[in-house]
Order: sequence, then C-alpha cells, then structure tokens
Amino acid sequence: MNRKYRKTVIAGNWKMNKTPSETKEFMTQLKSIMPKGRWCDIALCVPAVCIPAAVRAMRETRVGIGAENCNAKASGAYTGEIATNMLVDAGCKYVIIGHSERREMYGETDADVNAKVLAALEAGLTPIMCCGETLQQREAGITAEHITMQIKLGLAGVPEDKIRKVIIAYEPIWAIGTGLTATPEQAEEVCEMIRSVVRKLYSSKNARAISILYGGSMNDKNAYELLAQPDIDGGLIGGASLVPEKFVKIIEAANQPTV
Ligand code: PEP
Repeated sequence: MNRKYRKTVIAGNWKMNKTPSETKEFMTQLKSIMPKGRWCDIALCVPAVCIPAAVRAMRETRVGIGAENCNAKASGAYTGEIATNMLVDAGCKYVIIGHSERREMYGETDADVNAKVLAALEAGLTPIMCCGETLQQREAGITAEHITMQIKLGLAGVPEDKIRKVIIAYEPIWAIGTGLTATPEQAEEVCEMIRSVVRKLYSSKNARAISILYGGSMNDKNAYELLAQPDIDGGLIGGASLVPEKFVKIIEAANQPTV
C-alpha cells in the first residue's frame, strides 16, 4: 500500500450468496464492529436483489455498496440485464467488471469488459476491473503477457482524466475460492507489472495514483502480509467477506505503516 499517493480499498464480493434478509442481518453485525479509523475505503459488492437492503442499511456509514456486474447498454430489450444508471439510482458506488467467473462461465470477453468499464465511468460508478491468469498460463510463463493484454484491452478508450477512477483487481484464477493464495511476492510482482502497464498507457502520475487490489483467498490470516506490499493497495475478497468478523479483520490489516 502507499496511502500517500493512492487510496487503499477493501472490497467484498459476495458472489451468489445471501438473501436480502441475510444482507440486513450482516450489515447490522458489520456496523456494530466496524473500526472507527478511516485508513481505507470499504466496498461491498452484493447480488443485485440485495442492493436496496445493503444501501438502506449502510446509508449513514462509510461503506459503499456495489454490484457484481452490469450491462454496457444504457437501456433496451436485454431481458435480465441491469444498466449502470439503474445501479447508480439504486445507490451503488462500485461495480465489479470482468470477474474471472463471468469471463469463464458467461463468456465475457475483453471487449465486453471494456464496454462495461466505459459505461460504468460514464454513469459515475467506480469500476473494479478484474484481471488474472490461469494456472496453465502461469506455468507456461505467459502471466505478464496475458495480463498486459487484459489491461490494455479493458482500458481502451478510458480517457486520461478518468483513469484514476478505475480500480484494478489482480486475481490469479488459481487462487480464487481455492484456499491457495499467491505469495505476497508473487502478488506484488504482478501488481507492480500492472502499474507499469498503466504508466506506459497513461503517465507516471496516473500509475502512482491508481489503486491495484489483490484477490484470491485473501483472509484475516494472510491480509496483513499481502497489504504490506508496496503495489498492493487493498483486496477484493470473496469468501472472507461473507463473515463480518473476518471482513473487519481484513479492514484492520489495512491499518499498517505504508511505504
Ligand atoms: C473473488 O471472488 O473475487 C475472490 C477473490 O474470492 P475468494 O476470496 O473466495 O478467493
């Protein structure tokens, strides 16, 4: 982390877990144990039907609510889809885009990711754009090449004055929901590489200002060490964000001296 130049962000991704009633219960518990210090931004990205309950519960708090996906189109005949202006109107501040589960299971391409990032920015949402390699790609030594391509294609057309609004989440696919975490060194190596791609695409100032998160089995035990890395500005957290005590411990791990 480097709080001097950029925001630290701890973001939860609930995936397809919790009902609206369970959301209310979770938020009540979370509020009762939320640390007072404001050393990081906090986001909780929840299933679409849970957004109203989450927004209502967290209205007077510092927790921003987000969605887990959006459609790039503004409106129209897209049954089952949700547009970015709907998310804004519902009270969302964030939206996860290009999670590996959406890329793998629902065929999302880098072009889809790019269209969604542009639509989210246009609507005033903060996109959390995910990237990451498979185990095969890592073993084949093409992690850097693959992620550079995902970043370049995902950010295509994002103007200079909007790039700092984008949060990038590095999530090695082999570490998501598997209990396998990238070592702090492995995660740092890729996050630093991502920052260098942003430097080449934009500028040193923008690269220094953008928040890059790590995601992949981050939990209350390993968060401190991962967040101690200079280019890891927070976490995108799946499983551990479903338990208020664990999520709070990760928030507390973001309260450490930074470079
Ligand atoms: C995720 O879904 O973004 C994620 C990182 O999941 P987990 O923390 O459960 O590995």
